[in-house]
Amino acid sequence: MQTREFQIRGVTIRIRFDANQVSESQIRQLVITLRLLPVNHLRHIPLITVGNRPPAGGGGSAHPGMPGGPYIRLNRNIFQSPWNRGTYNYTLLHEVGHVIDWTYNSMSRMRRDDRAGYQALLAHTHRGRTQGPGEHFADAYADFIIGKRMSAARRNALRQSTAFKNVVAGADMMCTVG
Ligand SMILES: [Zn+2]
Repeated sequence: MQTREFQIRGVTIRIRFDANQVSESQIRQLVITLRLLPVNHLRHIPLITVGNRPPAGGGGSAHPGMPGGPYIRLNRNIFQSPWNRGTYNYTLLHEVGHVIDWTYNSMSRMRRDDRAGYQALLAHTHRGRTQGPGEHFADAYADFIIGKRMSAARRNALRQSTAFKNVVAGADMMCTVG
């Protein structure tokens, strides 16, 4: 395994992988995908490992309070999935969606402050094995970032969420005094 660092819009992102099992073009796809993210979100991306975990395939992620966390793990088989064969890696964006949900408390805040938005996200079917409200946020996040067609209700729920309320994509505001 090797760990490589990438500078993405001024943020250092680390990806750990075995060069015998993961190709350069696959790593490049992950980096191109991460370039879609707002800088504020990039700052919360933990170490991304591409390997054998999760053992059942797909992706996994953990926040800092979970064992071994924070991390994003991608099974190397994800590159074969139809939804990851285009320019961008959907599985990575879904896992980033979990990290952002935890970081900004998005789903729990939405449940309290935006019931309609919360219901709009839940109404959209999640096809993965793991179920729960967070999966619906992660799917909506990935759809939104990748520019997939989505209902106005889902799109608005996400834009109004704590994850995006103060984030202007591509132009995060920064004020330096002195
Ligand atoms: Zn998930």
